[in-house]
Formats: sequence, structure tokens, C-alpha cells
Amino acid sequence: MNQSNKKNLEFIKNAGVNYFLQDTARNWFENPTNSSSKQINDMNGDKSQKISQIIDKIKNFDTPLKKTAKNLVVYDGSFDAKVMFIGEAPGRDEDTQGLPFVGRAGQLLNKMLSAINLKREEVYITNVVNWRPPDNRTPTDDEILQFLPFLQEQIDVVNPDFIFLLGGVAAKAILSTPLALGKLRGSWHEYQSLQLNKKIYTIASYHPAFLLRSPQYKKASWEDLQMLQKKINEKN
Ligand code: URA
Repeated sequence: MNQSNKKNLEFIKNAGVNYFLQDTARNWFENPTNSSSKQINDMNGDKSQKISQIIDKIKNFDTPLKKTAKNLVVYDGSFDAKVMFIGEAPGRDEDTQGLPFVGRAGQLLNKMLSAINLKREEVYITNVVNWRPPDNRTPTDDEILQFLPFLQEQIDVVNPDFIFLLGGVAAKAILSTPLALGKLRGSWHEYQSLQLNKKIYTIASYHPAFLLRSPQYKKASWEDLQMLQKKINEKN
């Protein structure tokens, strides 16, 4: 077993999952709790109120990341989005502006969206971790696990039909798999929400920042985007 597989296994074990499939991604929530009294979507108040409550919880969550970051970065886009895009963590520009994907990677994401006729305002864009890690380092497994409940709650509130995972951190957080992105991309996975009684079609693909560094992967990214576009059209 190589080092990265060992780390992934450790991550999955720490997340309370003691199984994984060899050839496909596995979600963590095979037995969703459907207690209707707890269902977020049955709670009073509209989506914006619920997202504000989640933002308050993130603000009150004690993490050393707060000390080095300038601004909390939670979301951009629409609460009624059919498609949710999930990245890794804010970078410098996002930290300055308090919005996800506004720097160079964000500009590429905007182009990727418009290539499949989606507008930034009609999708929901967020990250796994909501404070910028120092020097843009990759979030640790502990940080991913700490912020995951906030991300899951956002998914439950927005209730998208599709999730597009941008990069390995988002794929690891949502699909809980030791598989590398190269193996995960190009096929559909299912995310079973904790609270919603449905499975959400999920695709994992390359992060725009990675595509800026390694443009040879843009072709594969384009294929993944087209898969999403096809599925959206099928649903309409
Ligand atoms: N990279 C991310 O993963 N998220 C952002 O918001 C910006 C860059």
C-alpha cells in the first residue's frame, strides 16, 4: 500500500467508516436518518434563513484557521440551485473578498459554467473548508472532517439535483473513497443526504486551479462538464 492510500484509509477510519469499495466511490450515509421532526427542510423559515444559521454556526466554530484568515467564505450563487459546485478552501482572493472562487481559478470556473450554459448566479458554489488555510496549504483530514457537517447541512438546505466536486479534497469529503480523482472522474456517483430522502447525482472532476497548472487535463474536465450538461438536459 502506498503512502497516499495509507493516509486515505486512516482518513476513512477516522470518519467512522470501516468499509470501502475497491472500484467505486462509497458514500458515508447508507442508513440516512429520516426522523421527520429533524428534517432541515421541514423546519420553519426559508432557505436563506437556514443558510444564515449555518453561517453563524461556522462563525462560532473554534478553529485555528480563523486566526490567520481575514474573512469567512461560505457561498455564492442561488439557494434554489439545481447544481452545487464544491471546491477545496478559499485562496487569497477569496479570503480578501469573502466569496468563493473569485480569483484566477474562479475565472476559469466561470468559463467552465458558461461553456455548459450555466450562469454563476443560478448555481450554488461553496468549499469544503470555509476559512483560508495559511499559505493556501491543503486542508488537513481533521479540518475536512470538522467542516464536513456544515457542508452537508448546506446540501440539505439547497437540495440540488446534481453535485459537481472540484478536486480531490471535495471528492474525498463527499465520496469517502481512497480512489484518486483520475479513477473517480468520468462516471456518476450518488450522494445520499443525511436528511433528504433522495440520492443526488454527483460527479468528481479536476479543480480549476489544477487545470490552470496542467491544461492537458482540460479535455477530461470538458468531458465531465458535458456529462453534467447531458444529465441536466435529460432531467428538464
Ligand atoms: N480554490 C478553491 O478550492 N476554492 C475557492 O474558493 C478558490 C480557490
